[in-house]
Amino acid sequence: MTDLVKCDRCGTPFSIQTAGIRATWSGDYMVQYFTCPGCHHRYQILTTDTELRQTIQRHKAIAAKIKLGQTKHFRPGTLKKYQAEMEKLEAEQKKRRDELLDKGNEILAALGKE
Ligand SMILES: [Zn+2]
Repeated sequence: MTDLVKCDRCGTPFSIQTAGIRATWSGDYMVQYFTCPGCHHRYQILTTDTELRQTIQRHKAIAAKIKLGQTKHFRPGTLKKYQAEMEKLEAEQKKRRDELLDKGNEILAALGKE
């Protein structure tokens, strides 16, 4: 797998897989991140709260429904309705993800040095 990235801070090239994806909790917030093996800077991948985790679950459920609908040949109107709901959930997810970005960085900064 070619998932080699270069650290913005120190220039160390490393694989996210090798560095390992970790998660830390702060109250209701879960921050997923990886750490540069060179300078130990933490890079945020995703921060979620209960609301966002529920949206992600609903998105998964509707995606599965659409897949089933396509193989079982659901009525086009039904599929269209699912599709519209999925797009709405995707927009919600993106909005909430952006809102939680700063919070995630704050939580990672509060972890201090390794
Ligand atoms: Zn680094």
